[in-house]
Amino acid sequence: MPILGELVCPSCGDTIQAMEWNRPLDGTPATTGYDSCARKCVGCGFGFSNSQATTPTVIYRDPFWDVPEFIARESEDVVRRALNVVSRGKKEQRFASRNSEDHVTWTMFQYLVATRKISALAARLGIVTDDAPEPTVLLWGVSITPCELARELEKRIQATLDALGERAYRRSEPAVILDFGMAGLVFIEVKLRSPNNSEDITEERTSRYIDRSDDKQSSRPFVNSDKAIQSGLYELIRNWRILCELANDRPAALVNLGVLARAGEAEERLKKFEESLLATPQRRFLKISWRDFIGAIAHKPLWLSRYIVDRGILDQKGPAVAK
Ligand SMILES: [Zn+2]
Repeated sequence: MPILGELVCPSCGDTIQAMEWNRPLDGTPATTGYDSCARKCVGCGFGFSNSQATTPTVIYRDPFWDVPEFIARESEDVVRRALNVVSRGKKEQRFASRNSEDHVTWTMFQYLVATRKISALAARLGIVTDDAPEPTVLLWGVSITPCELARELEKRIQATLDALGERAYRRSEPAVILDFGMAGLVFIEVKLRSPNNSEDITEERTSRYIDRSDDKQSSRPFVNSDKAIQSGLYELIRNWRILCELANDRPAALVNLGVLARAGEAEERLKKFEESLLATPQRRFLKISWRDFIGAIAHKPLWLSRYIVDRGILDQKGPAVAK
């Protein structure tokens, strides 16, 4: 007997029965991609995660099935060169999930780069000044605006991470880096329907990024090291430190895009993190909702509007089931 219940395909309305496994086990096989889904609508190219939840996550046969061809271009190459070597495989696999933060990040920025809309968007959101040029763009540390400047920036960030003592195969990977030259440097940490990742961290683990001996320097990244550690927001701590290193005297902003303002533990952690930073008008931490971000994109094409709805980017409730 199949373990998983039947489903109705959200695209065509057909009823989908779960395939039987050779040896039914007490658990269900992990979903590692479309091929491993026990329930699929082959006609639509939709798979469904092997979860008992009533609305399991949709896994696409082709992650780019609903976007124009130019969006998919180069994606495999960029993912395979992502800075964090150990997470490259997982990133590729997760790309097919409807819940993929990485896929949304890729699609948005590939579109914004191709249409040269980033500087206007960033100015509208108050991230940079009106006179900022179109930026050099790196996703996961890899350039998607092929030019000499971008290759230089790739090298510069790697050198910064090396100088901080990161291991070469497990490097920090800011999701989005926008380099506007003298108009500023921007890092974006992207969240889709979820709070920031947090974990209990120790002083030892963060010592690469939080150096207490810096405390007397006026340009130090953190004003309260204890609060930074207590926040447990390891990704944001790393990004803030790396941003400060790389920006030098230029204006700098760390943007937390799409993070849900949810009362409780997540909110407390974020508050602690914000209080730990030595922020100045030149060096800011900004929280921007997807609603504001998408609202600031001028003249959205139909496919993009559809994509925003299909992926639930404006959904404030959080994912229905665990990834
Ligand atoms: Zn279907």
